[in-house]
Amino acid sequence: MRIILSGAPGSGKGTQAVELSRKYGLVHISTGNIFREEIAKRTPLGKEVDAFIRHGQLVPDELTMKIVAKRLAQDDCAKGFILDGFPRTIEQARLLEKYLSTSGIRIDKVVYLEIAEDAIVSRLAKRVQCERCHQVYNIDSRPTKRNGVCDSCGGKVIVRSDDGAETVKKRFKVYNETICAINDF
Ligand code: ADP
Ligand code: ZN
Repeated sequence: MRIILSGAPGSGKGTQAVELSRKYGLVHISTGNIFREEIAKRTPLGKEVDAFIRHGQLVPDELTMKIVAKRLAQDDCAKGFILDGFPRTIEQARLLEKYLSTSGIRIDKVVYLEIAEDAIVSRLAKRVQCERCHQVYNIDSRPTKRNGVCDSCGGKVIVRSDDGAETVKKRFKVYNETICAINDF
């Protein structure tokens, strides 16, 4: 099964993607997670994308597509995958379409998670995430059993650096502008 999960920041894409990938043995491809890992490891790619993410802006389309293509080309994706947070612009959708048709890969389902913005804002303020396996927690409604330690893998659970109030506001603005552009298309 090949799935695209789409929706606003904090709509639950990451949570659902982790659950689905475990249940059905699919590769979870989150562009956000890939970028955060590269930033943590201080790689050249990490350095290139760091400022965009810190300011709540989108990473350029070509660069994002290049990262996704590299991941999709790995053998494990043959068992199926979930794209979480990609594509999120018209240009990314175009680039992906081109990539898929050249590689002979077909997407089975596209799922859009719809949720009210005020619900998301309070959710993001309480969101924490495992550095290692990317499991998402909520300090109120879905806390870890041990403070700061992932239930699933024992990894460190942290607050994302772009979940501060100002950056969240900016991410919504960017998201809404992108969605309007898609609707006008
Ligand atoms: P969210 O859906 O909550 O914004 P993500 O982890 O998907 O969280 O993304 C975090 C950040 O990573 C985004 O704000 C953006 O800067 C960057 N990013 C992730 N996916 C993409 C993408 N498809 N295109 C451009 N930038 C992206
Ligand atoms: Zn974990």
